[in-house]
Amino acid sequence: MKKIIGTIALIVCFINVYGQEKNKKGPHGGSIVSLGEFNMEMVREGFSCLSHPEIKSIKKDVCSKCDKSLEKDKKIEFYLLDNNYKELDISNLEGKVRVRIVFKDETAVSKKAKLTDKSFWIPLRKNGLSNFQQAIVRINYKSKKYIATYGDPIVHHGGHHH
Ligand SMILES: [Zn+2]
Repeated sequence: MKKIIGTIALIVCFINVYGQEKNKKGPHGGSIVSLGEFNMEMVREGFSCLSHPEIKSIKKDVCSKCDKSLEKDKKIEFYLLDNNYKELDISNLEGKVRVRIVFKDETAVSKKAKLTDKSFWIPLRKNGLSNFQQAIVRINYKSKKYIATYGDPIVHHGGHHH
């Protein structure tokens, strides 16, 4: 039995793909993590219209449908992109995405992501955006597990020189 579990653990290990944030901007103005066959973009500085959530901008702007000012989103949104940065179909991701956000004050939230037809996202509490430290996203995409990390982990215990 131990041997079987060991073998299974090894296989699971092999299909995990880890990606780290790159200094590159995606088509929605967010940060990119490359996961080999595709990329994941995290957008955390977005604006949208309260009446027209499909109208989005990466800067403060007015809605092209109703002229109202766009409001800063209290959420973090993710897109899957192919290697030409075209959006991928994510309709089969239902229930397969988990996002953990670590805040500067050392609190954290872990949530199942909500899906739209083009992105998945998690809501943030008040000040969640300015308090953001790190995001760890686990997705199960086409039978493979991927883990993408954005931002920097909190370094505990002082004494480091930067
Ligand atoms: Zn509008």
